[in-house]
Amino acid sequence: MYNRTQNENGSYNSRCLDCFMTIASCVETEQELEQREAHHLCPEKVLAQLLAEGRAAAAHAARN
Ligand SMILES: [Zn+2]
Repeated sequence: MYNRTQNENGSYNSRCLDCFMTIASCVETEQELEQREAHHLCPEKVLAQLLAEGRAAAAHAARN
């Protein structure tokens, strides 16, 4: 989920809606914008994944 905005000069900005980090600003083309978004490692998603893995590990430990 990204919030894209366009500047007066036609360039683009993109902000991640999960961590609210600006991942692209004054990018010339939509193509580059997509590349920036594809390469964004969202700390919010990484954290959620770590928490999910932690819960899975805890559940596994409780079973044994
Ligand atoms: Zn993010």
